[in-house]
Amino acid sequence: MRVSRLMLVTLRDDPAEAEIPSHKLLLRAGYIRRLAPGIFAYMPLMWRVLRKVSRVVREEMDAAGALETLLPQLQPAELWRRSGRWAGYTAGEGIMFHLEDRQQRELGLGPTHEEVVTALAADLLRSYRQLPVNLYQIQTKFRDEIRPRFGLMRGREFIMKDAYSFHADEASLAETYGAMDLAYRRIFDRCGLRTVAVEADSGAIGGSASQEFMVTADAGEDLILASADGRYAANQERAQSLAAEAIPLAGGVLAGGAGQPLATPAQATIDDLCAGHGLEPSQVVKVLLLLARLEDGSDQPLLVALRGDQQLNEVKLANAVTTRLGASHGALLELTPLTPTLLERQGLAPLPFGFLGPQLGDGLLAGSGSWAPCFLRLVDHTAAELESFVCGANQPDLHLLGASWAGLGLSVEGLDLRSAQPGDRCCHDPLQRLEASRGIEVGHIFQLGRKYSSAMEACFTSEAGTSEPFWMGCYGIGVSRLAQAAVEQHHDANGICWPLAIAPFEVLLVPANAADPVQAALAQRLYGELQQAGVEVLLDDRAERAGVKFKDGDLLGIPWRVVVGRGAGDGRIELVERSPAHSQELPADGLLALLLPRIEQQRWGLLEA
Ligand code: ATP
Ligand code: MG
Repeated sequence: MRVSRLMLVTLRDDPAEAEIPSHKLLLRAGYIRRLAPGIFAYMPLMWRVLRKVSRVVREEMDAAGALETLLPQLQPAELWRRSGRWAGYTAGEGIMFHLEDRQQRELGLGPTHEEVVTALAADLLRSYRQLPVNLYQIQTKFRDEIRPRFGLMRGREFIMKDAYSFHADEASLAETYGAMDLAYRRIFDRCGLRTVAVEADSGAIGGSASQEFMVTADAGEDLILASADGRYAANQERAQSLAAEAIPLAGGVLAGGAGQPLATPAQATIDDLCAGHGLEPSQVVKVLLLLARLEDGSDQPLLVALRGDQQLNEVKLANAVTTRLGASHGALLELTPLTPTLLERQGLAPLPFGFLGPQLGDGLLAGSGSWAPCFLRLVDHTAAELESFVCGANQPDLHLLGASWAGLGLSVEGLDLRSAQPGDRCCHDPLQRLEASRGIEVGHIFQLGRKYSSAMEACFTSEAGTSEPFWMGCYGIGVSRLAQAAVEQHHDANGICWPLAIAPFEVLLVPANAADPVQAALAQRLYGELQQAGVEVLLDDRAERAGVKFKDGDLLGIPWRVVVGRGAGDGRIELVERSPAHSQELPADGLLALLLPRIEQQRWGLLEA
């Protein structure tokens, strides 16, 4: 391939629209062009990268016994109604693009394929003898992301490898899950990516194993919490830890636990309250009010109590709400803070925000326009465990000192609703502490259990002759996100440094002065020889100055550069490695012997060949 044929346009300056290095570099080097928010054209060089990533994915999925398929992207609403996900994916913050066809039938553009594949399995897999089966595809997915950003990292149209497995029992599912875990590690290693596997949120179905693979990078959107001993790593959405011990409240329980009034003029924040009265945040129970919007149209007010020094984890909260209300009210569509404006719109009296306590009665909800008349009350373990505490008195400028749950007339069951924080002690070993790093989720493997098969009545006949829903797993890799994540992990001040296994070309061949017939002839000869030897070589045949070609070469990030310059007359060339930067002069005749073994080794990424 010749550079002059590539429609290559490189940019000297960072495009204003890009915030993170990989996005800037892919735009500057002409790999991608933006068409609309979250929608990109993959230019020929990018497409070569994506095909290479896909090839690695295919080889490892095939080797693990999965079967490649290609499923429809246009998916009937009917299927999604059967799984119970249509409303959750199309209303509120739902991310499914959806439309009506000319017969007014509703369709969604596939953000994921559990429904389609489960319907197929229900049709085709009848007996335990046909199981297990693992189907995968590599395909464009559509998601109307609320905040598309960072280029291919969070697109609205992007390439995913998704796989779905079907099993007769849980043990078989666990086995395939383990095989996918290994296949994923090989895929990322082969693509030259350093990843960590972390425990991931598995939604409200809980219990089931779920693991994400993170490319560690400062620009990652996910926060990873891990112990230094390497035994625990989790996405913060899911992470658990031991909260710091609460400092017991001096004076203990007062007024039989009903608490003694404590004047707290204008002390509406935990900091002000503590500063004003010599208290510690861990001695306070704070109350957060939220509104949960549910699929059946109901709006449920939530009263969440946490210890004053703890932060709410919204993912854990969403799971807790779904566990309690999902069966009767359908999917949780949205969680929003309950604001004075929302109260006013419901015709409800204002609340003394900043002075709320968990004993806030349901009475104040009476007469609301459309909300449920009682709070769903959820209390985090750390708050539930306090024997005596300070909390708001539900009156302006007043708190209660020395309150207890029983004294307030509340019976509580503690839940895990707090966010684990860096520095927290670990559950598996209190001597270990959680350390934070940032990650880009490139893959996710998930034991779904029987959630979809039960909902969609996808059953097989077991060995015992009974009809049972399949056990299912699903396994995703963001192919286009992975390609950009590789740039995020492998670049320097001059441009991209592709791992060779996924580089668009292996060698960039640059005649320093293409107008010089000696240089041009030697370059042409080497071009042929490299191709003959099976090396993917790109020839920079442009009539540009050498400096321009070298700069572009650094930006494009092809791992090896062969420069045919002034030494061409003596049969000498220069071989430059992009990263770590290194160059050497050598006779042109010695090039293949030196380069081929290096390239062959690098084709396996971080794996041994
Ligand atoms: P995220 O939490 O980043 O939104 P997700 O958990 O919703 O991702 P999955 O449904 O697990 O994503 O999809 C499988 C893989 O597809 C992810 O691990 C990720 O690599 C990739 N992916 C998901 N959403 C996008 C997107 N908008 N753009 C590019 N890749 C994506
Ligand atoms: Mg995921």
